[in-house]
Amino acid sequence: MLTSFLAIGLFAAVVIFLFALRPNHLLEPIKQMSDSFVSFLLSSTSEFGSEMTQEGLEDQRLWRQRRLRDLHLTTPKPATSKRRKILVLGGGSGGLVAATQLGINLGKDHDVILIDRRTEHIFMPAFLFLMVGQRQPKDVVRKLERLEQRNVQVIQAQIEGIDPQRQEVLLDSGPISYDYLIISLGLRTAPELIPGFAEAAQHSWELEATLRLRKTLESFQEGRILVGIPPGPYRCPPAPYEAQWMLDTYFQERGLRDKVQIEFFSPNPEPAGEDRTPAVWMDAQSKKRGVQQHYSFSVQSIDSQRKVVKALYGYELPYDLLFLVPPHQPAQVLLDSSLVETVAGIRVDYDTLMTRWGNVYCIGDCANMPVSKSGGVAHQQAEVVAHNLTVELTGEGEPTTFQLHTL
Ligand SMILES: Cc1cc2nc3c(=O)[nH]c(=O)nc-3n(C[C@H](O)[C@H](O)[C@H](O)COP(=O)(O)OP(=O)(O)OC[C@H]3O[C@@H](n4cnc5c(N)ncnc54)[C@H](O)[C@@H]3O)c2cc1C
Repeated sequence: MLTSFLAIGLFAAVVIFLFALRPNHLLEPIKQMSDSFVSFLLSSTSEFGSEMTQEGLEDQRLWRQRRLRDLHLTTPKPATSKRRKILVLGGGSGGLVAATQLGINLGKDHDVILIDRRTEHIFMPAFLFLMVGQRQPKDVVRKLERLEQRNVQVIQAQIEGIDPQRQEVLLDSGPISYDYLIISLGLRTAPELIPGFAEAAQHSWELEATLRLRKTLESFQEGRILVGIPPGPYRCPPAPYEAQWMLDTYFQERGLRDKVQIEFFSPNPEPAGEDRTPAVWMDAQSKKRGVQQHYSFSVQSIDSQRKVVKALYGYELPYDLLFLVPPHQPAQVLLDSSLVETVAGIRVDYDTLMTRWGNVYCIGDCANMPVSKSGGVAHQQAEVVAHNLTVELTGEGEPTTFQLHTL
């Protein structure tokens, strides 16, 4: 737990680096939208320092060795032409960056193809700003076809299967083969895992749900808002904390804060440690804003008639408005294709993001890595994979590795 929050805090440095030092035209609007989150992270981490201890580095070295030993890499089929086909699955944070970089580096000599069921990239980090009316839907979506300016072919299709042995991806429009595959299909929200969720809970982990919550908030005048997180991995671990603070400010600005009680629950125990530890710091910030914290509350179901959330051991919390992060699972196609073994995602080599198939890489939220499920991480992983494929296909430059210790 402590390690994961430390990772979140240190990840700020990466986000700032990625957004501030490596802008490109496509990502510029994204940079603007995420500025406030970056400054939150900056303010919450600047005092913590980013040096990893010798012990920490040694731990990571051992982790990596273990992972490498466990992976059974297979050799890709020999290519039939000099022109290689690189498929990028998913046009979210990871896929967008990987395809853009590969298109720029290789798109003229090789086929770089991005596939997503949507025609647009949706920038999820802005959802909390959308929730409180500081952004509009048009601010958070961009047409994926803009990637064509970067030599990337975009296919809109539902991905139904992935077969690494045959080097083939099955789309609803038919199969497509590849020489290299980058999987960045993210996590899917799975509200059905909590009985009562659909009738009772609201959230901002999807675009439409965020707009519904925004409407509800606009008409909310008084009562108890319960913000909570479920057990298991979910996109962006600090976001529920940020949500509490944004709701606090939102109701202050509307002059209703004294009529609106905000409470938070988490399956995790009360954070302990030095004040500068990110988890402890975030907890203290919430308390400073008068948000009561309920720890070790592992949600099991919601009783929408009685308006209570039920947890393990019979604990219950009442609410007037329930803002609950939905449980998450790997994208369905990864389960259907038996590529994932745990809810944390596909096993990868921590240095290179290579899966057990030598020409298949996995990045972002669907990669099983000891880092937070976040766009900043997906972005950095995408750059590593794009760089290494470029080196492999051009024979120029040196391969690089994902710097886990910077996160
Ligand atoms: C409220 C909120 C706040 C956040 N705040 C931040 C933040 O401030 N900073 C940060 O770094 N991160 C933040 N994140 C997390 C960040 O958005 C995700 O971690 C990031 O988007 C993961 O990128 P990805 O490429 O792995 O997956 P995604 O961005 O989820 O992309 C997956 C893509 O795959 C497509 N797809 C999935 N299955 C299929 C299929 N079968 N066929 C076709 N297409 C498919 C989807 O349509 C989607 O476009 C936040 C998230 C939320 C919800």
